[in-house]
Amino acid sequence: AASQAKSDFLSRLSHELRTPLNAIIGFSQLIQMDPQLPAERRAQLGHVLSAGEHLLSLINQILDISSIESGAQKVATQAVPLAPLLETCVAICRPLAQASAVALEVARPLPGEPDPAAVQVQADPTRLRQVLMNLLSNAVKYNRPQGSVRLAVRQDVTCGEGPNVHVDITDSGIGLAPAQLERLFEPFNRVGAERTVVEGHGLGLAHSRALARSMGGEITVTSQPGQGSCFTLHLQSAGHPTADSRPGRVN
Ligand code: ADP
Repeated sequence: AASQAKSDFLSRLSHELRTPLNAIIGFSQLIQMDPQLPAERRAQLGHVLSAGEHLLSLINQILDISSIESGAQKVATQAVPLAPLLETCVAICRPLAQASAVALEVARPLPGEPDPAAVQVQADPTRLRQVLMNLLSNAVKYNRPQGSVRLAVRQDVTCGEGPNVHVDITDSGIGLAPAQLERLFEPFNRVGAERTVVEGHGLGLAHSRALARSMGGEITVTSQPGQGSCFTLHLQSAGHPTADSRPGRVN
């Protein structure tokens, strides 16, 4: 009940915050269109605009988390082929990985093994992409130079209840201690990263877990401080595994 009350409160609060913010952003954009505006004022207005947009994106994420948690937002899932989505996310994250000197290993079926490209999951493609992007970019952000990120897809062959497709995102980064793991999914809790140069605001994992759960999935994590972490996104498969869609390996 307390959790529901919190979600309702956050949902109302976020709506109330969005209204004045839209005026700030909208009028800043209007003033920027003025050709008479001196360059210095234009630059200052640019700061107002980008701070406003940043704040709006935070508020939208909080609103999304609370409306998913309160059950107000129903998510329509469909059968989504996993491989193309993974490829897109990896391609988007590759420049970040290269800039951080982190190797990003891409899914390739081993010779003689079933092709993971055949795995389909029950998901909303946009939301699934958001979750994967967050987990992948975190694995790069909280890594070390010359480190690695490895992506693997597993599918249970037994047909039980619940999520049976598992996407492992394993990094060789800084890792997390048990006390940090306990608070990892709390909104705005960066579990110590706020004292580092790594940018973030501590909403990504809370949002990702709410999104995963809204699709009947889950996110779990195992970690060793100083050695790295493995974040696993569990999803429901769309259809039973066949000879062509059983466990895939990522190299
Ligand atoms: P952000 O990255 O914006 O701080 P997140 O909600 O995505 O927020 O993550 C919360 C915190 O969890 C991060 O600040 C970081 O301390 C920790 N974290 C997330 N992913 C990893 C990872 N792969 N390895 C180590 N720490 C991580």
